[in-house]
Amino acid sequence: MDICRNFRKINKDNYKKFIDKKNMSMRGEFAGVAFSDRMIFIPHCMRNTKICKAKDEGAYYVCAMCKGCKISEIAALAKELGYKKVYVMKGGKAIENILNAEKPKAVIGIACYFEGVQAVKMTEKGKIITQFIPLTKDGCADTDVDLDETKKIIALK
Ligand code: SF4
Repeated sequence: MDICRNFRKINKDNYKKFIDKKNMSMRGEFAGVAFSDRMIFIPHCMRNTKICKAKDEGAYYVCAMCKGCKISEIAALAKELGYKKVYVMKGGKAIENILNAEKPKAVIGIACYFEGVQAVKMTEKGKIITQFIPLTKDGCADTDVDLDETKKIIALK
C-alpha cells in the first residue's frame, strides 16, 4: 500500500470511529423526536443522472419519484411517516441555511465520511440531534447507500 492510500485509510478509519460514536450517543434521543420534526439530507450524486427528472431548486433538487434510484424509496418512506422534508443537496454549504430557516429537531444525513464529519460538527453547533449514514460507494457520481440500514434509521422511534 502506498503512503497516500495508507493516509486515506487512516483518515477514513478515524472518521468512521468519530461517526460511530456520535451516532450511538444520539440514537436514543433521535428515536424520541417526532417524525414531523425530522429532516433528511441526501447527496445529489446518488441520483441516476441518465434518467433523473428531479426539479432543480438551486441549492438542491426535489425528487420526482421516478424510481430510477434509491432516493425515491427513501423519500417515499419519509413522506409516509410524516417527515418534515427531504432535501437532495448539490453541496453541503447550503445545509446550514436550511437548518437555520427550517429548525428541525433532528436530521439524518447521508454522505461520504469526510462530508459526514463536517455535517455532524455543524449540527452539533445548532444542538440538532443527528444520525449519519455513510455512503457504501462514494465519489462524484453513481454513489450508493445501504437502503435497508437507511430505512431502519428513518423509522427509528
Ligand atoms: S428517483 Fe428521484 S432522484 Fe432518483 S433518478 Fe428519479 S427523480 Fe432523480
